[in-house]
Amino acid sequence: MMENEQKENFRKHITDRIQSVKKDIISFKALTRPIAPDNAVGRISRMDAINSKSINEEALRKAENTLVKLESAFKIIDDDDFGTCIECDKPIPFARLMILPETSLCVGCAEKLTG
Ligand SMILES: [Zn+2]
Repeated sequence: MMENEQKENFRKHITDRIQSVKKDIISFKALTRPIAPDNAVGRISRMDAINSKSINEEALRKAENTLVKLESAFKIIDDDDFGTCIECDKPIPFARLMILPETSLCVGCAEKLTG
């Protein structure tokens, strides 16, 4: 379980992250608007546009996914088991939570599960 001071730092940190992910989502959405037809842009720039559109769509999906995780982490900061690894039940180091607030795994378990 976290100290109150750590919790407050963490709450602020998560709020900042949520704001910045929301901004990212807005810009990715702008970048994934439908692409103009061939006659409006050259063939090559249309290919470029299609490529970067799919990269931006992927980034948008990731950002939306991160936002969901951050928001659910924010809701459970006060829970007794917040900051506890869901695999091994050991506390997740505070430094790791600051870097990856949405994580529910300690470093060891995350490495085991992702290979
Ligand atoms: Zn673990």
